[in-house]
Amino acid sequence: MISLGIESTAHTFGIGIVDDSKKILANVKRMYTTEEGGLIPAKLAEHHVTVCGDVLHEALTEACITIKDVGIVAFSQSPGIGNSLRIGMQAARTLALTHNKPLVGVNHCIAHLEMGRALTSAKDPVLLYASGANTQIIAYDTGKYRIFGETLDLGVGNFLDAFARDLGLGFPGGPHVEKLALASSNLIELPYVVKGMDISLSGIFTNLRGKIKTGKFAPADLCYSAQETVFAMLCEVTERALAHTGKTEVVFGGGVGCNIRLQEMVSRMCAERGAVAYCPPNQFLVDNGAMIAWLGLIEYNAGVMENPDTVQIKPYLRTDQVDVVWR
Ligand code: AMP
Ligand code: MG
Repeated sequence: MISLGIESTAHTFGIGIVDDSKKILANVKRMYTTEEGGLIPAKLAEHHVTVCGDVLHEALTEACITIKDVGIVAFSQSPGIGNSLRIGMQAARTLALTHNKPLVGVNHCIAHLEMGRALTSAKDPVLLYASGANTQIIAYDTGKYRIFGETLDLGVGNFLDAFARDLGLGFPGGPHVEKLALASSNLIELPYVVKGMDISLSGIFTNLRGKIKTGKFAPADLCYSAQETVFAMLCEVTERALAHTGKTEVVFGGGVGCNIRLQEMVSRMCAERGAVAYCPPNQFLVDNGAMIAWLGLIEYNAGVMENPDTVQIKPYLRTDQVDVVWR
C-alpha cells in the first residue's frame, strides 16, 4: 500500500510518498520565506496554492508512480495556521474524491514522533519536538501521546528567528545563530526559565534584545550564550520526562533538532543516564510530507478515516487530544 501525505501546517507545503515497508519514495517541499517580517497567513495560503500542482507532479515523478498507484491520501489536519491547513486539506480532499481514495487526517506533532520511530531504532521514545512554532516534550502513556512539558510562550525556533532578526541575520535565523555561536565560548549570563516541566522564552528574548541595543556585546557571544542557556533548559525538561516515564530513548523532531550543539547536549545528557538519543535526517526533522504519509498509513491500518464530504481542519487540536488507536 502506498500513502501520499500532504503537509501544510505553516510555512512549508510538502508532499511525501511512502509505502508500508517504510520506504520513502518521495519527499518534496517548498518553503515560504520572507525578506523581512514574519508569516502573513493570507500570503502563506497564496504560496501553497501556487506551488501545490508542481509539488504533486514532482513527488509522483520522483516516486515513479501515478496517482492510480496511491492507496490512501493523508494530510496534516492539526495543529497549525488555519489558512495554511485549509489548502493542504482541500488538495487532499480533491485527490481523494476525484480518484476515489480513502482520506486520513493526522496530527502534525504526532507525525514527527511516529516518523522518528520509523526511521531510527527508537521504540518508545520521548520526543523533543523543537520547531518554529512548537516546543513540546511528548511521550506515549496509556492511550495518548502526552505533553510532559512545553513552552509557555514562544516556540524555540521562533525565538531563534526573532533574536536573529534583531541581530540583522536572515530568516530562518536558527542556522545563522548556530554558525555564529561556533566563534565564541564566552558565556554571558542570561535568565534561565524552567517552570516545573515548562519553559518560557519571551523574557530571555527581551533580555537579549536589550543587550543587542547597548552595542556592547559581540553577536557571537550572544548567539553562543542564547544557545547554551536555552538548550540547557530543553535538556532539563527532557531529562525529567525520561526520569518520570522511565523511558530510555529520546528522538528529535522539528527544525531546531538540526542544531548540532543541541544534539550534542541532549546526547550527553542521555548517555549520562543510560539512555540513547536518536536523530532522524534533517529532511525529516523539518516539516515534511513523508511523515504525514507515514502516520496516515499507520492510522488507516488501524481503521481511522475521514469522510471527505464533511472533513474539517483542526487548527487548535492538541497532541494529547488524539486517541492513539494504533499502539
Ligand atoms: P520547522 O518549524 O520544524 O520546519 O523548523 C523551522 C525552524 O527550525 C526555524 O525556526 C529555524 O530557524 C529552525 N532551525 C533550522 N535549522 C536550525 C539549526 N541548525 N539550528 C537552530 N535552529 C534551526
Ligand atoms: Mg513541525
